[in-house]
Amino acid sequence: MKSLLIINAGSSSLKFAVFNLPLTKDAPSVYRGQIDGIGANTQFVAKDIDGKVLLETTIKSPEGTSLEGQQQLALTSLLDWVESQKIELAAVGHRVLHGGKKYSAPVVITPEVLKDLEAFIPLGPLHQPHNLRPVYILAKKYPNMPQVACFDTAFHRTQPWQSEVYPIPRKITEEGVIRYGFHGSSYDYIARQLEDVLGKQVGNGAVIVAHMGNGASMAGLVEKKCVATSMGFTAAEGLMMGTRTGNIDPGVLLYMVDQHGYSAADLSRFIYKESGLLGVSGLSQDMRTLEASDTKEAKEAVELFCYRAARQIGSLMVATAGLDALVFTGGIGENSQHVRNRIAELLAWTGLKIDGELNKVRGKAHCINTADSKVKVAVIPTNEEWMIAFHTTSLLAL
Ligand code: AMP
Repeated sequence: MKSLLIINAGSSSLKFAVFNLPLTKDAPSVYRGQIDGIGANTQFVAKDIDGKVLLETTIKSPEGTSLEGQQQLALTSLLDWVESQKIELAAVGHRVLHGGKKYSAPVVITPEVLKDLEAFIPLGPLHQPHNLRPVYILAKKYPNMPQVACFDTAFHRTQPWQSEVYPIPRKITEEGVIRYGFHGSSYDYIARQLEDVLGKQVGNGAVIVAHMGNGASMAGLVEKKCVATSMGFTAAEGLMMGTRTGNIDPGVLLYMVDQHGYSAADLSRFIYKESGLLGVSGLSQDMRTLEASDTKEAKEAVELFCYRAARQIGSLMVATAGLDALVFTGGIGENSQHVRNRIAELLAWTGLKIDGELNKVRGKAHCINTADSKVKVAVIPTNEEWMIAFHTTSLLAL
């Protein structure tokens, strides 16, 4: 039996999943796992289909190995493990941050495509080079192995220009400083479930999808296509997140430069690492920890998260020209009854109402609105790896 390897490589972590072929609808991955702490204390965990740990080990690299060298070692350790399990790979699918303006769909990676993807590195310097590194290593080790790139940005390329353009000098817009949007594989997966969960009419109507995990964004869909999204040029815009600010007055950043002597690196830390739920609570970026805490700061962090999410929905409703359904997904969206409930309260003026009992049901795609709610509300667990596997099999006719 042949299999697919799905890779999501970051700078310090590499997540993977293995799917058997032929790929069926919502087939679970037969193996999954991750390599964390690359560059510091690299840990490799692999699990089987039932979540049983098959391997838990430390990857040791010689003293003084560069980050790039350690990333390479992480991938080769994974490939060695794959071979040791007698997994026969037919292809590899990659999560890649940026497809720029050019790629509005997944693509088979050729040398020409790779050149384009390298040209997008300035648009996503923290992710794109790390996403591409496994592509080079795999091409060297298995020159005939087909590889596919699925982009976080691709789903949003249907946005009208008003959703894409910033009010900045045209010259900079033409350089590519536009609102790309992210979490595309998740929205792609959810969009394909909408008719099943909401029915044909509502599924094709004005739907706002809230992908809320450590990173969080929303997308407004009409006829299952994106018309607006909360993330922009980078994944810092939009919702308040685990450690990211989301929307913020750029004047705050100028203030930090003027009054605190912040450098570009300091600003990057401020925007991406020190803010959001962590910054407001002073306790944690983890929603579970905050919901379990009694401190005023933790409660305020959760409230601000919900309030800003509801405000974002109000804004997206202009782009979708109404709201037929609201869909929650991602670690917080799928699991936090409180967050769903509070956002619903803040949207009560739309006639949206959720059912307390249905809101408690976990683990499956289902509607949680009351019978008399004017807006349907659903929880749909996302499955980005399966989505990448699906595109990989489709493009390669596997
Ligand atoms: P993700 O990045 O999609 O894995 O989501 C991670 C976020 O989901 C973290 O903030 C977790 O605290 C949150 N999360 C996971 N499970 C729960 C839960 N049962 N209740 C509240 N938040 C949760």
